Amino acid sequence: MQLANLIMIGPQGAGKGTQSGLLAEKYGYQIIGLGKILRDHVNKRDILGKKIQRLLERGELVNDAIIEEIIREKLESIPLDQPLIIDGFPRTLNQAHLLQRLFLVKDRPQPQALYLNLPRSVILARLAHRRECNDCGTIFKFLPKLFKPLICPKCGGPISGRSDDRPEVVEARLNIFFSQTFSVIDYYKKLDRLIEIDAAGTIEEVAAQIEHALRLPHRETPHVESN
Ligand code: AMP
Repeated sequence: MQLANLIMIGPQGAGKGTQSGLLAEKYGYQIIGLGKILRDHVNKRDILGKKIQRLLERGELVNDAIIEEIIREKLESIPLDQPLIIDGFPRTLNQAHLLQRLFLVKDRPQPQALYLNLPRSVILARLAHRRECNDCGTIFKFLPKLFKPLICPKCGGPISGRSDDRPEVVEARLNIFFSQTFSVIDYYKKLDRLIEIDAAGTIEEVAAQIEHALRLPHRETPHVESN
């Protein structure tokens, strides 16, 4: 079965990372997570990391030239027949055009967009409890009681809150989502490549909706103890 390439669109807290992880685990997708790649640069404190740190702390978008270089380089290293999930890109109309060009030149099948839709009030409540493994990026909605002191049960890395989940930064990121990323949703709708998912359910419910919409064969959702 040929799996479609996917892009995940949605406000922070909608479950893009969690659902991407499940699809990767169950069906063999490879994830390109732009936010995670950028945060890794910041954590490593390399040249790029120092350049973009302030932007990430404020929840603002990194400029397109940097994003283009990262995504271009990443795509070069992945075989054309490897099904992909791109999480966190495109976030602007310009980036959507760029993605289309990058896929076209290599004859990579154009992606299907999944829009994880979640009301603002639910987003704010979810983010207040979100924690993330600094190493593998696994997201925890509640701290796993069994794994104190804050060690990731998957890889043993340290778990902490994300600095860009602070309320004032969340507000800035939500504003960017509704002012800029919404045009990306429109773009894929016009191409008839948009699937809208109600992201307010449980992890398993949202996963089932996605599988149904993509006509994927049903596979058990691994139980995520800490979520
Ligand atoms: P995320 O983990 O996807 O929420 O991304 C975290 C942060 O990384 C965002 O708030 C932006 O500062 C930056 N970022 C991630 N993806 C992009 C992108 N496609 N374009 C510009 N900035 C991005």
